[in-house]
Amino acid sequence: MILTSENYFSQEADREYLSVSQYKNFVGTLGKPACEAEAMALLNGDWEREKTTALMVGSYVDAHFEGTLDLFRAQNPSLFKKDGGLKAEYVKAEEVINRIERDEQFMKYMSGEKQVIMTAEMFGAKWKIKIDSYLEGKAIVDLKVMRELHKAEYTKDYGYMDFTQYWGYDIQGAVYQEVVYRNTGKRLPFYIAAATKEKESDIALIWIDDKHLHEKLIEVEQNTPKILALKAGDVEPIRCELCDYCKHTKVLTKPIHFSELLGEV
Ligand SMILES: [Zn+2]
Repeated sequence: MILTSENYFSQEADREYLSVSQYKNFVGTLGKPACEAEAMALLNGDWEREKTTALMVGSYVDAHFEGTLDLFRAQNPSLFKKDGGLKAEYVKAEEVINRIERDEQFMKYMSGEKQVIMTAEMFGAKWKIKIDSYLEGKAIVDLKVMRELHKAEYTKDYGYMDFTQYWGYDIQGAVYQEVVYRNTGKRLPFYIAAATKEKESDIALIWIDDKHLHEKLIEVEQNTPKILALKAGDVEPIRCELCDYCKHTKVLTKPIHFSELLGEV
């Protein structure tokens, strides 16, 4: 299967290729535990996640920089109010775009080829990636629009951490860098070009160093065989019993004791 911008997110593409978002569905990140059962249901088309406004705002800004905003607006009537004006969230997205465009350095990082698709055979799987801004021979840049940059996220096992580790953007960097390397022989630096939706939009270019990416890639290598076994149907997916999919498909068999409610705290 040859990937294009039209079929990149299709079910067939997701079955044939592994992507970072699919990987996160199966393995999780420090901030969001995975559910194998949900991941399989998503792959099989038995379950869909709702498109949150936060996701749509990200796509809006992506579309602008890709030069496809007119098409994106035409395809998504939900962006508009009844009177035809943009909803407040997308007015904010316009402000974020304006803030980014006011910064020369940010725009330099965003000046690469947009939404570049690459594939590579890696750890026994076929991987697909889509790069927001690919500066050939120079850098891989991923654009993120988020609530804020400096919030310390908390997890029970690892304590406080920054948003990149919490949401697994370092995993994304590791896979993107390696796939580009396997295609071009060049190991390029990975950057997150971030802009916030705060009242006054904050901006940053965030570098995730190669040593950290290498550590993450080892994790990816260790987790890939299990994902492949799940996708092939050789292993039964585990239900997390906490996500929306598990709630939706839950079938009661017997009462639980009240002490089971909190799980392992
Ligand atoms: Zn679940």
